[in-house]
Amino acid sequence: MKKVAIVGCGAYMESGYGCPGEWRCLKAAAMGEGKFDEPAQVVSFVKCECPGRSLAPNVGMAAKLSEIKPDAIYLSSCMVNAKPGCPYASAEDFAKILENKTGLSVILGTHEYH
Ligand code: SF4
Repeated sequence: MKKVAIVGCGAYMESGYGCPGEWRCLKAAAMGEGKFDEPAQVVSFVKCECPGRSLAPNVGMAAKLSEIKPDAIYLSSCMVNAKPGCPYASAEDFAKILENKTGLSVILGTHEYH
């Protein structure tokens, strides 16, 4: 089973109702739904925090401390589809930063639940 790290938008996770951090990303990974083409094991869930500068080091640190390197990184749907969007960087920018830092592929989005 593929091991994945998920990254959520902390600004949304802390203020949103029915935040994806509660179940949506996790259910999509467990069931192989949404952006997951098969069930995946979530080995870390990292919260981005404004202005996002610590994200790449925190994702790297989660892999180091857990001693589990994920096969891929997923940016949560709340991070990718946010309206209004993140004022600091686009999802594509965050993906590029994470790809450069980790060498892993970054998938934009996790679930399609409402
Ligand atoms: S930097 Fe952007 S993606 Fe990260 S927590 Fe803040 S608003 Fe969300």
